[in-house]
Amino acid sequence: MFEKTVPIRIRLTAWYMVLVAITLAAFGGFVYLNLARSLYAEVDGGLRTLAQEAARGIDNEDGALSFQNADTAPSAAGGVIMRLLDELGHTTDGIGDYAGFPMPKRLQAGFSTARISGEPWRVYTMLIKLPSASATCALQVARPLSAVDETLERVAGVLALGIPLVLLVAALGGVFISGRALGPIDRVTRLARDIGAEDLSRRLNLSLPDDEVGRLAKTFDCMLARLQAAFEREKRFTQDAAHELRTPLTIMKGTVDVALSRPREARDYRAALAEVETQADRLIHLAESLLVLARAESAKPDLNVESLDLAVLISGIAEQLQPLAVARGVTVRYSGPRTLRLRGDQDRLLRLFLNLLDNAIKHTPEGGNVTIEVTPGAGVVEVAVKDTGPGIPPEHLPHIFERFYRVDKARSRSEGGVGLGLAIAKHIAQLHGGDIRVASTPGKGSVFTVSLPAVR
Ligand code: ADP
Repeated sequence: MFEKTVPIRIRLTAWYMVLVAITLAAFGGFVYLNLARSLYAEVDGGLRTLAQEAARGIDNEDGALSFQNADTAPSAAGGVIMRLLDELGHTTDGIGDYAGFPMPKRLQAGFSTARISGEPWRVYTMLIKLPSASATCALQVARPLSAVDETLERVAGVLALGIPLVLLVAALGGVFISGRALGPIDRVTRLARDIGAEDLSRRLNLSLPDDEVGRLAKTFDCMLARLQAAFEREKRFTQDAAHELRTPLTIMKGTVDVALSRPREARDYRAALAEVETQADRLIHLAESLLVLARAESAKPDLNVESLDLAVLISGIAEQLQPLAVARGVTVRYSGPRTLRLRGDQDRLLRLFLNLLDNAIKHTPEGGNVTIEVTPGAGVVEVAVKDTGPGIPPEHLPHIFERFYRVDKARSRSEGGVGLGLAIAKHIAQLHGGDIRVASTPGKGSVFTVSLPAVR
């Protein structure tokens, strides 16, 4: 829920805050503990020094221990107390306000902390064995810990106030910085939301630095440009298709209207029906071409890839078109290996080469030649369809593979062409992982070259 509704800006800051809080708490704890340890060590060191100095001036008169000179005994001032205890734990002498000091249960050397009238004290007990004394006695030195505790409390107070303050500044800084970094994304989102399918010509055109967000905005603009191009291509395609459908239908309607306008001879009706048939054939051809194109362009074309003999396939097409070639007085030649294995979709490759050969024969004047040259190379097989026709003017070459594109519209249409043959050929070549290119010299002829991946 949190993940989905809270803006990235706040989420980033929250994570950042958690990290800063953990780091500051660890750092504060480390500083506090180290300070406490060194302050206690300082107190303990001082107590030990005092005890060693005091031990040097201890008298043993008649078995009772006492300080030689209580006034000059080291550091009786500063709240420090000292006392001497006999082996039974009774105080025999002392310096400072030692009266309220509790008696130890048993004499044990070392440091301890005691609470005297609510105040913490640090106590150092040193066991001493004077040569003249019969038993082990003890010297105790103690000083209040209030100064140390006060210092530690002050430090804890500074940390308790400072850490939340630093966190607050870090949070405000985090919100500000992430806001600045992510602001352009909001702009991209707002603009993207405003851009509808109808105004794909709009662009973000944000002048951002070349960072992640800048690149996102640029990529978005490029994507819009591609979408616009695709959208316009589709629109043009629909318009062209509608136009291609309307022409034969208009001719059919006109022919029928004229035939029915008054009673006619049987041969007039036959002529009208023949015209209707021609136009119906054109419509069927157009519908088939559109279907083939739609299948070829579909996101998942159902390619039926199998091992086939390209040389046999092409010779078969040449044979099939032989009557057309003969009728037009065109010679069709094949040059290449007699057999050439390839992997591909037989029906689609058949259509590809049928389209190229049909075009070549149709565009070659009587007495001309059409040559099919198959060249197996390393990794690719090239099939060149050459003709000695009128060629294609250079300004048309870049568009020749576009759908519904025709160089000579009137002539092409009268011959049944709809301008889809080369678009289909290109799609089929690309579906096979190959491509198609054209080279043409006006007045001399054209060469359409298909390259297909060879079987390795
Ligand atoms: P169509 O069905 O009209 O032939 P194509 O897509 O097959 O459509 O061809 C597009 C245009 O390319 C044709 O209208 C024609 O003008 C030109 N064209 C194709 N092949 C040749 C060729 N071999 N020689 C000259 N022009 C050609």
